Amino acid sequence: MGNGSDAVGVAALLGMHDFVVTAQTERDGEVWLAIETTTTRLACPSCGVFGVGNGRRRVLVRDLPIAGRPTVLVWAKRTGRCQETLCERSSWSETSSLISPRASLTERARREICRRVGEELDSVAELAREFGVGWATAHQAVIDHGDPLIEHDGRLEHVTGLGVDEHTFQHANAARRTQMVTTFVDIDRGRLLDAVPGRSGDVVRDWVKAQPFWWADQIRVAGSTRSPVTPQRSATCSQKRHW
Ligand SMILES: [Zn+2]
Repeated sequence: MGNGSDAVGVAALLGMHDFVVTAQTERDGEVWLAIETTTTRLACPSCGVFGVGNGRRRVLVRDLPIAGRPTVLVWAKRTGRCQETLCERSSWSETSSLISPRASLTERARREICRRVGEELDSVAELAREFGVGWATAHQAVIDHGDPLIEHDGRLEHVTGLGVDEHTFQHANAARRTQMVTTFVDIDRGRLLDAVPGRSGDVVRDWVKAQPFWWADQIRVAGSTRSPVTPQRSATCSQKRHW
């Protein structure tokens, strides 16, 4: 990886507090950034006593694309050893709320994938390619960051236009049929409400049935959120009950 002023410029782009970029390079069209925290002393997570350095361990995690290119962060994690004789913990490595343990995406990348599915109506498969991860990883980001929003922000309350769209997330091969996922979007606000494995039809009927009755009565449904909603494509809730 190259060092110097380029890395300093990229550090400004990184925008992750407590982290700095120490080097950068390009590999197979991807941006690779070496990063480390600005921490100088590590306290033992168990007893709080400052320990001694025990070397570093490199962790690869994917982040927001830079200038449209997939970006990989190589985090040189500090590890430490506890010297408090009464402490039961012998060693540890540093942690960050921005990168979960064993994660393959940063938390902000996971949030962005969820936002793009909900607001930009991008498919999970497209985003998986763009971020350089597998479909399941991108889909898990939508579930993890989307579900709490659905449950806690009352987003169903003001929804009157429900967009339903099918996405292919695994094409058929000799061993399996094509796998589909159905997404539910608040058309007026362009927000993701939910993503459910399977095709529309039964999936849509079951999903709407699971929502409060007062809500089902106030919505109109469009078959594809990628197309403008037209009266011909919309169905009232009473029509929908015959699906
Ligand atoms: Zn300790």
